[in-house]
Amino acid sequence: MCVVCDLYHVDWRFKNGKFTKLVKVNLFRVFSKKVANLDLCRLHDLEIFKIGEVRFLANYMKLVEDIEKNRTKYDGYSPLDSVS
Ligand SMILES: [Zn+2]
Repeated sequence: MCVVCDLYHVDWRFKNGKFTKLVKVNLFRVFSKKVANLDLCRLHDLEIFKIGEVRFLANYMKLVEDIEKNRTKYDGYSPLDSVS
């Protein structure tokens, strides 16, 4: 399930037609030292690619709120882990 479609109650299977694969997306500006991971449908993946992460987040404030409320759900790797 695409997290954005889920939060906005969009029927993502209908909107995406035959593109039913979800894309794993990393957000770099949400957490200070960590990457946030989310699953997006093709449409939202295209959108974030086109307008960029910051504007994407501004468009979907519900997503920002959800990430803040459920940090662990979005917890990704820390880029600092590989630097030792
Ligand atoms: Zn979506």
